[in-house]
Amino acid sequence: MKGNKTREESDILKEIKRNTTREKEVIQALEKRDGLTWEEDGVVYMDGRIYVPNNKKIKEEILKENHNSVDVGYLGQHRMLELLKRTYWWPGLKEDVKRYVQECIKCQQNKVQHQKKAGELYPLEIPQGLWQKISIDIIRPLPKSNGMDAIVIIVDRFMKMICLKATMTNVLLEGIAKIYRDDI
Ligand SMILES: [Zn+2]
Repeated sequence: MKGNKTREESDILKEIKRNTTREKEVIQALEKRDGLTWEEDGVVYMDGRIYVPNNKKIKEEILKENHNSVDVGYLGQHRMLELLKRTYWWPGLKEDVKRYVQECIKCQQNKVQHQKKAGELYPLEIPQGLWQKISIDIIRPLPKSNGMDAIVIIVDRFMKMICLKATMTNVLLEGIAKIYRDDI
């Protein structure tokens, strides 16, 4: 696998050398001659990193190679950016990494699978639409009224709707689940 990777990298380097379109800021940085940006063998180095010309095909190839790592699988945008930044640079690199990860179909599928698994842990059936993201709070103790001495507040975090319900201090989680089921 290692040999494979080296071959791909040199292919990318060849493509970079072949492509001579350079952004204005790169040309300006070269003209400065401050030692931070230099050209060598048709490749521009910026702060020691290889500048990738504005070519969609080359960028996509580099993104692909740095997203799906042989050793650890698909990288999230932060780790992918860290890895990429060691070797390459281009204007808008960060945004391109973010977009690439967000649009990756494999990663989206993985996410859905993880969410399904997490959902299976909770026996309480979650209704569709409203009341999907809730926070539950209990105010207690309150002066007793009809045997009730506490109030359960269930807030829908998305729509900011509130459900109040009088209850007893010794209410258990099951009791809250019942209120949630019966009253919402
Ligand atoms: Zn992915």
